[in-house]
Amino acid sequence: MVLNAWRMQRLIRTARASSHWPPEKIRLAQADQLRRLLRHAYDHVPLYRRLYDEAGFRPEMFRSLEDLQRVPRLTKQRLKRAGPEEALAGGTPPSACRLIKTSGSTGAPLHLYLDPSDNAWQRAVAWRILFEHGFRYTDRTLEIRMTPGESFSVQKLGVAPKDWVSILDAPESWARCLARRKHQVVVACASTLHALAEAVETQGLEIRPPRIVVSDSEVLTAATSRWVERALGTVPVDVFGLAEVSNFAWQCEERQGFHISADSHIVEVAAPPGDLGEVVVTALGMWGMPIIRYETGDLAQQVPGPCRCGRTLPLLTQLSGRVTDAVALPDGSRLYWPYFHEILGAHRDLEQWQVVQERAGRARVHLVLRGDQGDLVDRIRGELQAGLPAGFGLDVARCHGIRKEPSGKTRVIVSHCTDAPAAP
Ligand SMILES: [Zn+2]
Repeated sequence: MVLNAWRMQRLIRTARASSHWPPEKIRLAQADQLRRLLRHAYDHVPLYRRLYDEAGFRPEMFRSLEDLQRVPRLTKQRLKRAGPEEALAGGTPPSACRLIKTSGSTGAPLHLYLDPSDNAWQRAVAWRILFEHGFRYTDRTLEIRMTPGESFSVQKLGVAPKDWVSILDAPESWARCLARRKHQVVVACASTLHALAEAVETQGLEIRPPRIVVSDSEVLTAATSRWVERALGTVPVDVFGLAEVSNFAWQCEERQGFHISADSHIVEVAAPPGDLGEVVVTALGMWGMPIIRYETGDLAQQVPGPCRCGRTLPLLTQLSGRVTDAVALPDGSRLYWPYFHEILGAHRDLEQWQVVQERAGRARVHLVLRGDQGDLVDRIRGELQAGLPAGFGLDVARCHGIRKEPSGKTRVIVSHCTDAPAAP
C-alpha cells in the first residue's frame, strides 16, 4: 500500500516532467521500456509467446522505435479469447487481481485482470492528466459512474477525497450533491455531464464552478461542452482512454487536440500524418497483463508541430471516432462521426443528437432541441444532406432524449450495416 503510493507519486512526478522533454528523449525512454517489456512478455506471458512465435518474431529483433512495425499487433478478439492463464504473466494468480469486464457495444465482453501493480499504474496515469490541469490533493472530486469505484482509506482522511455517485440515481440528486459539496473536480462520461448540466439549470442551482471538469468514455460534442460551461461555469476537458490501458490522451488548456501521455503509452496511428487511421496502443507500465501494440478499433489523426501550451508531447485530433462509429455509404466507404460533429456543433440550440443506420443507403438523425425551433430541423437536414451522396436517404426528427447503451454510455452513431469495409 505504502509502496504503491510512493510508486504512484514517483510516476506522476516523472510523467509531468516528461511533458516538456525533447521528443528524442521521450522516444529513447519509450524504446528502452518497450525492449524490457517485450522480453518479459515473451518469457512470462503465454499469449505473447504464442503470438510472437506464430509470426516469427523475437524480442531481440526490437532495438529501437524504428523496429516497432516488426512487433506483431494484438487484436481485441485474440485478447478476448485468452483466459487469465494465457494473458497473465506466469505466477500471477487471477484471485490476486482486480477483474474488470468491459462492456463492448458488440460481441462478448472482455475480461481484464489487473494485479495490484498494474492497477496502481493505471490509476497513476489517469491521475497525471488531472495534475496537468491543476489538480491538488486537497481537491474534492465528484465522480458519476454506473458502478462506483474503489474508496481508499487515505481519501477518508482527506487526501484527494472523492464522492462516488451512481448514474442510476436521478440527475437532480447529482446536481444537488455538487451544489452542496462544492466539488473542485467533476469526472463523468459526456452524456452524464450533459444530464448534470441540465439538472443544474432546471433546478436553478447556484454552483461554485469546479476547477476541473473531465469528460471521458464518449464523444464530447460542442453542444455538450457549451452546456456544461454555461451551467457549471467550467469548460470540460476531453480525455480519452480504454479500460485495457487506462487514459492516455487528453486535451490541454489550448483544446487544440489530444496530447498523448508518451512517457506511459506508445500510441501509433496506422495511417500517414494527416490521414485518419486506427489507433494502436502499448501500455508501457503493465507487466501483470501486458498490452502491447493493441488494436483499439478507435480512429485518430496525427497533428504535426508543437502545441501552443509548450508541452512537447505528440498531438492527435479526431480521436474517439470508433471504426464502428460511422455511417456506411453505398460505395462501400464510411462517413465518420466528425462529419456530423462539425455540422451539428454549430447549432447552439441543439442539445444532443444521434445517428442510427438500420439499412444500407438510409439513416435517421435524432435531435434533442431546446425550445420551439421552428425550421431548425429542416435546416439541419439540408446541411447534412449536402455532404451525402445523391440518393442517400436521411430522416431527421426531433426527440425528447437519446437512449443509453446498457453500459450507461451514449453512442453518437449506431450503424447496423456491417457489410462495408471495416476501416478507411
Ligand atoms: Zn497543448
